[in-house]
Amino acid sequence: KSVQATETTRTVCTYCGVGCNLEVGTRNGEILSITAPYDAEVNQGHTCLKGRFAFQFYNHPERLDAPMIRRNGTLEKVSWEEVYDYIAEKFTHYRETYGPDSLAGISSSRCTNEENYLMQKFFRAVIQTNNIDGCARVCHSPTALGMQRTFGTGAATNSIDDLKHTDCILVIGANPTDAHPVTGAKLKQFAMKSDKVSIVIDPRRTELARYATHHLALRPGTNVAVLNMMMYYIVTEGLVDDAFIGGRTEGYEAFKAELLAIDLDRLEAVSGVPREEVREAAIAYATAPNAMSFHGLGVTEHSQGTFTVMQIADLAMLTGNIGRKGVGVNPLRGQNNVQGSADMGVQPHQGAGYLDVTRPEVARRYSEFYRAEVPSHIGYKIPEMFQAAMDGKLKALWIIGEDVVQTDPNTQKVIRALEATELVIVQELFMTETAKYADVVLPGASFLEKSGTFTNGERRVQAVRRVVEPIPGTKPDGQIIVDLMNRMGYPQPDYTPEGMLEEISQIVPFFAGIRWERLGKNGLQWPVAPDGTDTKILHRDDFKRGLGYFEFHSWEETAEITEHGERYPYILTTNRELEHYNCGAMTRRTPNGQLLQSDYLMIHPEDARENGISDGDFVCLESPRGKVDVKARVTDEVRQGVLSTTFHFPDIMVNNITSDIHDSEAMCPEYKVVAVRIRKS
Ligand code: SF4
Repeated sequence: KSVQATETTRTVCTYCGVGCNLEVGTRNGEILSITAPYDAEVNQGHTCLKGRFAFQFYNHPERLDAPMIRRNGTLEKVSWEEVYDYIAEKFTHYRETYGPDSLAGISSSRCTNEENYLMQKFFRAVIQTNNIDGCARVCHSPTALGMQRTFGTGAATNSIDDLKHTDCILVIGANPTDAHPVTGAKLKQFAMKSDKVSIVIDPRRTELARYATHHLALRPGTNVAVLNMMMYYIVTEGLVDDAFIGGRTEGYEAFKAELLAIDLDRLEAVSGVPREEVREAAIAYATAPNAMSFHGLGVTEHSQGTFTVMQIADLAMLTGNIGRKGVGVNPLRGQNNVQGSADMGVQPHQGAGYLDVTRPEVARRYSEFYRAEVPSHIGYKIPEMFQAAMDGKLKALWIIGEDVVQTDPNTQKVIRALEATELVIVQELFMTETAKYADVVLPGASFLEKSGTFTNGERRVQAVRRVVEPIPGTKPDGQIIVDLMNRMGYPQPDYTPEGMLEEISQIVPFFAGIRWERLGKNGLQWPVAPDGTDTKILHRDDFKRGLGYFEFHSWEETAEITEHGERYPYILTTNRELEHYNCGAMTRRTPNGQLLQSDYLMIHPEDARENGISDGDFVCLESPRGKVDVKARVTDEVRQGVLSTTFHFPDIMVNNITSDIHDSEAMCPEYKVVAVRIRKS
């Protein structure tokens, strides 16, 4: 006999940047079901496999249920009072002995805006360091930086709903079918229409690529080459929007001169994409009345990630595809609050509201607002934190909701960094691979057990509403941060989403009109004016920086290939699967774990044949960092010479072999080009 829910609560999916509205059915404080309410905005009654079914992790028997302190090598359960005293004493000791920059924090897009805001405030105001970073560092940090450089604002220009108003989509370095499924379904529907144009730039023949009008199957690591070729043809075919360029941009003449000097022969050879295919795609994009671009981690997780984001923005400016419905540059965010964590100041160079901490007036503003001396020098980014730990400069690291051991590149280096840090605090739901290296473990609460806001990939600030009480022994992350602020002599009002949003609206200009009671069913897209009016489309009349900025970047081979390519002749890239989410800590503990039970490696039939590998065999992948064994799936979805693997399972630990080479500007790791050699295990 089926048990019926007696209550429903409306909240928002935590998993991806689509930010689906959910209706969660409960009975006697237990979650029974998740469905999607129908609304015109956001997900229109749809969800994917993760949002609808991957919720049973919340009361899984392996949930952490008490704080722990490591003593004599063993993590022992202690009370909250004891752990707060322990942390406060240690933090005070390190700050006074080695200075504020000997401490650092890593926050998470799994946390709400309010929690991210509090975490950066803790480090800036209580510890007085800018050593605060977040998991966006390893995914979309080049998007924030690249779009800021070109437009002044590092956020999606339009909404997914604008697909109704566009004629052409350009999807680059993204597989929305698996990673952003509700948007992926919309993009697929679009691509199936015979009167629309779709361009996919991706090394893999993804599902969307199979429906696309143009699929440019480039070699991983050559986005910059292909985009320069595209822009070259737009200019030489006379398809630029002179009025837009003349009225709203700067730097075009110098940009054009360098663009026209590119070596097409070389770029065609390195990318492996015939120039005629690029030319046709360029003409299709430039001649569409309205063209929208979407990009994912196949753009950002490269040594030239920031430059690629700038090129995507350049493409939009070249063709006047900015500032109206059905156009723009639209990053597809991995977790639902990637946008929000950066908005809230979880970055070492910009505080809440993207204000540059090195500007004296900004440091003064933060210092006055937080009633504390906020430093004006840039803090450590995550890779710099690891290096500082190994150099003996970083003594304490507080990590919330990020399994850096499993998901950051070059696992053994991450482990060495954690082992070199005197105090590692991990705030988590489960005993993750990172928590195993912790000196202190704090049990947090999941999105189903707390209230606050997420900001989805289209700048939509959405209400996350508590569905059930936190599992006994756990606390919402924001409450833990507030408790520690109070414990360290920095008194805070009671933690409520209403109160936090009120405070945030005073320091983050584009949150000026955001109030809890105004969020309603579908949230508000920032910037939100004081009267509550939100913004569907950015850059209608001008850019945040004034004029849009053209800056040319030439393609460069990544050091991973120049240094290791000869001995490790295959290129491995990483990808996600529909059933699982990143490190899989949550989804593996739901029925989704039965649907996909291990990582797998995509390998082209020719490569498989040459190496004596059959479907289902284990393949040993060896890179300059180490080896892993992954089961082969022989498929022509990848091109010859290119392999692709998921990274959801700690027993495989794919990041043992990934490279910690990173984007030259934002330090986002280059997960998408890993030099490997292969053999049957
Ligand atoms: Fe929606 Fe993304 Fe959640 Fe799936 S994972 S339900 S597409 S927000």
